[in-house]
Amino acid sequence: MKSPSQTTAIDFDSAKLQRLGFGQLPPLLQRPVSLAQLRQQMSLQLQTSLEPQRILGLFFREVQRLVPLDAMTYVHNGSDLRLEFGSRGHHSVSYSLSHEGEHMGELVFRRNQRFSEHELGNFESLLSSLLYPMRNALLYRVATQTALRDPLTGTGNRIAMEQTLQREIEMSRRHLQPLSVLMLDIDHFKQVNDHHGHSAGDEVLKAVAASIKDQLRNVDMVFRYGGEEFLILLSNTSREAAAMVGERLRYATQAQDYYADGQLIELTVSLGCATLLPGESADSLLRRADSALYVAKREGRNRLTMAG
Ligand code: GH3
Ligand code: MG
Ligand code: MG
Repeated sequence: MKSPSQTTAIDFDSAKLQRLGFGQLPPLLQRPVSLAQLRQQMSLQLQTSLEPQRILGLFFREVQRLVPLDAMTYVHNGSDLRLEFGSRGHHSVSYSLSHEGEHMGELVFRRNQRFSEHELGNFESLLSSLLYPMRNALLYRVATQTALRDPLTGTGNRIAMEQTLQREIEMSRRHLQPLSVLMLDIDHFKQVNDHHGHSAGDEVLKAVAASIKDQLRNVDMVFRYGGEEFLILLSNTSREAAAMVGERLRYATQAQDYYADGQLIELTVSLGCATLLPGESADSLLRRADSALYVAKREGRNRLTMAG
């Protein structure tokens, strides 16, 4: 059965952005008596965060004080965002959000009961309180993504790696889950540069990064550790499972065709694998993975070595 759908585009510029006096705030009520009151409470709440997840989570919760919902989805392709709240519903209404000609994502509301005209009017009015909080959150997201990414390969940079590794170590301790890392280095990469030039080397480096990301579920866990060296964080992954992921990466990077200056070249990688020990620091974990990589190189390259 095809579910009925009502689609509406809302342009924040033309939507009536009613100015609300913030002078005398009424006490926060559990159930707002009016749309104006809810709008006022929402505008105040939504500007307390720069995280799209939190802003939309608050919006989803608060909007239900006026319009009951089963689910809400937000998609913004420009910044790789897709957020879902609630479960599902047969009826849906979707809004395409824009501001000054800039697309700010699409919101879909769902529930099992059809939406009335009156409820849609309420939605449209409440949506305007999302304008500035969401615009700020999206700008902030773009800024942090740029600051945390290696521009050549699109993998995380050192700053991102340090933050993520620290967070993953804490998570691993708190939930008593294993954490493993793979240090991956391209074999004889200097020769690619020497024979084909630096920019051909850059292209190969990008292709290797893409091939690593293709093999992993969570691409946010791949970091450029050094020139032609990558670190892969494997959360909740035991030593044995990490070894399997490492071997898969080794095969995949080797199996791919690389072109340098239009010429097909052979490429292999070496890997060192280490699993976090109780009480171990980030530095020590990285050192052990690096030593394992060194052993893989010394023993002939194109192989994976486990840290002792
Ligand atoms: P090994 O198998 O021992 O790892 O040999 P290797 O040649 O890969 O290692 P070595 O550390 O001697 O050389 C790494 C080379 O990677 C040297 C450097 O010029 C190159 N490199 C590092 N970063 C970049 C980059 O961003 N672009 C390019 N094109 N080359 C880079
Ligand atoms: Mg190398
Ligand atoms: Mg190296």
